[in-house]
Amino acid sequence: MAVVADATKCNACLKCTQVCPTESIKKVGSAPNEHVEVSVEQCIDCCLCVGECANGALSPG
Ligand code: SF4
Ligand code: SF4
Repeated sequence: MAVVADATKCNACLKCTQVCPTESIKKVGSAPNEHVEVSVEQCIDCCLCVGECANGALSPG
């Protein structure tokens, strides 16, 4: 499993990327529709990113 990012809630602040130990979170899209996606292959389900998101855009998979 991997954390799931909700593109409708994400504002691409990238705070989550700063705490991810496996660099699994990447910004995709272009303004004003930028958001992040989580790599299912790389994510180790540590959930550090979930608590970092003030918008509730990240959910445990
Ligand atoms: S912390 Fe939340 S709002 Fe910010 S980039 Fe990550 S998922 Fe998006
Ligand atoms: S759960 Fe952990 S490994 Fe997966 S994206 Fe979030 S911080 Fe990175």
